[in-house]
Amino acid sequence: MINVGDRVKTTYSEREHIIKKITGPCMCEPYTNTIGMTNEKPKKHYHYRGVYCFDNGPSYFNNYDLEGNNVYNDDKITIIEKTKKPIQLSIF
Ligand SMILES: [Zn+2]
Repeated sequence: MINVGDRVKTTYSEREHIIKKITGPCMCEPYTNTIGMTNEKPKKHYHYRGVYCFDNGPSYFNNYDLEGNNVYNDDKITIIEKTKKPIQLSIF
């Protein structure tokens, strides 16, 4: 399970990120629906906000479950290093 403070990367990039915030569960429409690319039935998911380790730039990961699996495709967030801080629940 992914927690705030974990160092992660995605299956589609070598960039490393620190998770800053997790929000959800959420049933919002997938972005690809709103631009007419897909017509998926919305599935329960969470939104992750993080920062890119190299320069602290913002990063956003949408439509993932709490294990880091994208609910619509095969993308995955994998944990490189768990936070050493006590677990701080930031789910609303
Ligand atoms: Zn959502």
